[in-house]
Amino acid sequence: MATLPEMFGSNVFDDRQMKARLSEHVYNSIRKTIDEGKQLDISLANAVATAMKDWAVEKGATHYTHWFQPMTGVTAEKHDSFISPAPDGGVIMEFSGKELVKGEPDASSFPSGGLRATFEARGYTAWDPTSYAFIKDKTLCIPTAFCSYTGEALDKKTPLLRSMAALNKQALRILKLFGNDSVHMVGTSVGPEQEYFLVDREMYDKRRDLIFTGRTLFGAKPPKGQEMDDHYFGIIKPRVAEFMKDLNDELWKLGILAKTEHNEVAPAQHELAPIYSTTNIATDHNQLTMEIMQKVAAKHGLVCLLHEKPFAGVNGSGKHNNWSMSTDTGVNLLTPGETPYENAQFLLFLVAVIRAVDEYQDLLRISVATAGNDHRLGANEAPPAVISIFLGEELEAVLNAIESDSVYEGGKKTKLKLGVDILPEFRKDATDRNRTSPFAFTGNKFEFRMLGSSNSIACANIMLNSAVADVLEKFADTLEGAADFETALHDLIKQTINDHKRIIFGGNGYGDEWMEEAAKRGLSNYKTTADCMPHLLDKKNADMLIEQKVYTQAELESRCEIMLENYVKAVNIEALTMIDMAKKEILPAIEKYVSDLVETVSKKKTLGETIPSRYENSVISKLSTLEDLIFDRTEELEKAAAELKDIEDIQKQSEFVRDSILVKMASLRVAADEAETLTDSKYWPFPTYGDLLFGVR
Ligand code: ADP
Ligand code: MG
Repeated sequence: MATLPEMFGSNVFDDRQMKARLSEHVYNSIRKTIDEGKQLDISLANAVATAMKDWAVEKGATHYTHWFQPMTGVTAEKHDSFISPAPDGGVIMEFSGKELVKGEPDASSFPSGGLRATFEARGYTAWDPTSYAFIKDKTLCIPTAFCSYTGEALDKKTPLLRSMAALNKQALRILKLFGNDSVHMVGTSVGPEQEYFLVDREMYDKRRDLIFTGRTLFGAKPPKGQEMDDHYFGIIKPRVAEFMKDLNDELWKLGILAKTEHNEVAPAQHELAPIYSTTNIATDHNQLTMEIMQKVAAKHGLVCLLHEKPFAGVNGSGKHNNWSMSTDTGVNLLTPGETPYENAQFLLFLVAVIRAVDEYQDLLRISVATAGNDHRLGANEAPPAVISIFLGEELEAVLNAIESDSVYEGGKKTKLKLGVDILPEFRKDATDRNRTSPFAFTGNKFEFRMLGSSNSIACANIMLNSAVADVLEKFADTLEGAADFETALHDLIKQTINDHKRIIFGGNGYGDEWMEEAAKRGLSNYKTTADCMPHLLDKKNADMLIEQKVYTQAELESRCEIMLENYVKAVNIEALTMIDMAKKEILPAIEKYVSDLVETVSKKKTLGETIPSRYENSVISKLSTLEDLIFDRTEELEKAAAELKDIEDIQKQSEFVRDSILVKMASLRVAADEAETLTDSKYWPFPTYGDLLFGVR
């Protein structure tokens, strides 16, 4: 058995492999490409491709694929084998630099939101050498960006890389002002904590809602839910432990730093957190993690549910995006330093994030908007749809002191005009108490908690990086032109706190009072995808994203359309699934039960008029009423689904989904769930919440 260090990254063409298999010259240039974003000379690509192929073939790979992340949110791949015919009738394994660097998948069936119609019919994939190639299912996977021929991004990786470049550029300007000339690059790092549910495969197979939509569309509350809080950090059940062990092995082989795993709040819910890494690698790894979770679950007779809200009335699943900025010299810019200068620098980056989150709160909301996540945000469990920042008492006090020109009590005598000399050490446990905050400072990073469990983390980080880049640019403009840097710095930090403190909130983010208070503060509160998505194109947002060279206007329009389309499609499938289940499973089951009861009543009558059947008659009456209700509501939903088809405009469609389809789905569900509680469980056509949530032992 291989040891963990031997196993780790064994399926990755990582630095160790490159060093061992490439000539010094080729290795050095590929390193430059990776570290400094330099273009790779195509003549070197052949050498890299050959080494990569030899390694992959030795490991049993037969195919290669350009692995990319189209706007569907799931990864895509098209496999080509390495084989090439040899004159002797056999084959040789071939892979050229050209094939490594560029691919041409048939792009026509990926969503483009009108981009390809306006531009070119085809797209191409281009190697992202900053993310290592890896082997999965005997296939060499090459992480790539996906673009149209005119360079419009058709994927999530391209804008993410652009946003990282934007932040790098502006952060370097700021660092120069502080005299940090040795820094060549500022990168962002992310550690995404991934939540998921595990359910039994056999039960899953009996639920068409889970199969078609990833969530249960029906299901009465079980007698026991999560109220005992006995699952959170509880003992992991043997079958789940086996799954986790296998999962870790598979992730480690792929070089994914799987680190922490535990049970979550809801029964059958779990979490996996990796050690943080560079944002684009963290994004690739998170996509892979979600895929491997599902594969490994299947091997264990389980199904991994990544939907944001698989069960009504039970906590949903999210993803915590732990985000920080750091330099290539190893300095985390969100860590308070030891000298006044370092502290001032920390405070400037801190207030930059505060301003970015305040000014672009709508973009952050948009970045996590899906039909699935709408069920979670604001549902008394996850963060609300309103964005606010939690800083912790100490840091809030520091900012208050700066804003009011008073000396922070916890600090020492002021040297810079900042009111702070030595900042207190922000211990994680001191700052991370507020679990209801959507955006919390946790000592040396921010934790953005609104992401849904199935979201690609690319979107949230694109918006976060771009917004912070935008603010840093404005800061740099101001400070570079200042006559007295220290005074300008002080004024800028103070002014920023003053202008953006409305976004800072340390209280309970779930409460109704906060919703009222947030409205008074003028914070945006977009409850659904239909509400928020059109604001992607607001002038303020589009100007910023275009100015930072993260998106073009056409790309933004295409994204808005695709995201709304995804929303409408997802809900439409849910509606059709409900109709189907109601008509073919639920109503016939109730009917059968009622008719058996009726038969019992009449049998009893033949035994004598005095034999009571109050129980049967009561159930017959209640269920018959519900049956008709389910029937009526199914018909109404069917009508609405038909109406949806006739609406042309995507925005109008999404509003109709929000105002009509989802409302009708909810009312159909109420009737069906009530019927479930009255029906003999032998008759109920699919596993119940109790079965699903407590079925894995
Ligand atoms: P929690 O209390 O939220 O469970 P953890 O200590 O488990 O916090 O960390 C959560 C995630 O944050 C992990 O993925 C971890 O690697 C990541 N993380 C830690 N430090 C940083 C950092 N400087 N930048 C980004 N992510 C980080
Ligand atoms: Mg967390």
